[in-house]
Amino acid sequence: MRIFITGGAGFIGSHLCDYFLARDHHVIAMDNFITGSPDNIAHLANEPRFEFIEQDVTKFIDVPGHIDAVLHFASPASPKSYLDFPIQTMKVGALGTHNALGVARAKGARFLLASTSEVYGDPLVHPQREDYWGNVNPIGPRGVYDEAKRFAEAMTLAYHRQHKLETRIVRIFNTYGPRNALDDGRVVPNFVGQALRGEPLTVHGDGSQTRSFTYVSDLVEGIVRLLRSDELLPVNIGNPNEMTIKQFAERINALTGNKAGIVYKNRPVDDPARRNPDITKARTILGWEPQVSLDAGLEETIAYFDARMQKV
Ligand code: UDP
Repeated sequence: MRIFITGGAGFIGSHLCDYFLARDHHVIAMDNFITGSPDNIAHLANEPRFEFIEQDVTKFIDVPGHIDAVLHFASPASPKSYLDFPIQTMKVGALGTHNALGVARAKGARFLLASTSEVYGDPLVHPQREDYWGNVNPIGPRGVYDEAKRFAEAMTLAYHRQHKLETRIVRIFNTYGPRNALDDGRVVPNFVGQALRGEPLTVHGDGSQTRSFTYVSDLVEGIVRLLRSDELLPVNIGNPNEMTIKQFAERINALTGNKAGIVYKNRPVDDPARRNPDITKARTILGWEPQVSLDAGLEETIAYFDARMQKV
């Protein structure tokens, strides 16, 4: 297959490039490096089945040749990055999704949208099932991401309904692993970076808010299974092992041997209080379950950040 991946130099996008290249497919990746990084694809420089186009996907996309699948992963995706780039976040979710859908339609390709647990906003239903419509503040600071992804989901299904495009939508919950940007402000790189520097971990609020953490290889496996399935409606891919952020901080300190403890900071506006995926649908339709334990995934991630910090 020839696969076109927007955001191909991003955290998840670059792992998808690796996945398909390792299985003898051709990959064309596009990225403007607004949050992605050339480092994430540097190892592919001499790979003949890999092409890279440096471009903003909100501009008209022209990809030569035949394409079997379009995976639309371009977007700032950490709260810090979508607060830093609010207009670009809205544009990539809206115009970028429209362009990527246009490529899929022109090529007769299957389309997969990277959506997010943020479509549920600060959810009032736990755990979150795909048929929950969410509790989103459209005008808050996170609204730029949440609403862009909600628009993107609606647009994706509009292309399916009007043009009969084969579309898939994955709702991605918090994911971590190598190539998470150290400075993207997310809890995993923040805590691991702080722990490796021997600093206290900055817990927002009292740390009672919950998340669960999916290791990137588990996420990639779920995405690929969804791409190959017949499911048109959104599917949650996330680890259902819910924990408080305080418990998570304590785990990071234990795994790294950091003795500096925790400091408590202000909670960001509209920070969801509880998040946990109901993955019944992924289990039933895709036969998917996370395989990597938190400790095993964190061990890989800590080693990655440690190596990167030595280089800086
Ligand atoms: N968080 C924290 N300290 C940090 C960074 C994040 O306590 O240094 C909290 C954040 O407020 C949220 C959770 O950790 O409750 C996950 O934050 P992240 O930015 O990773 O993504 P989110 O799940 O909010 O999209």
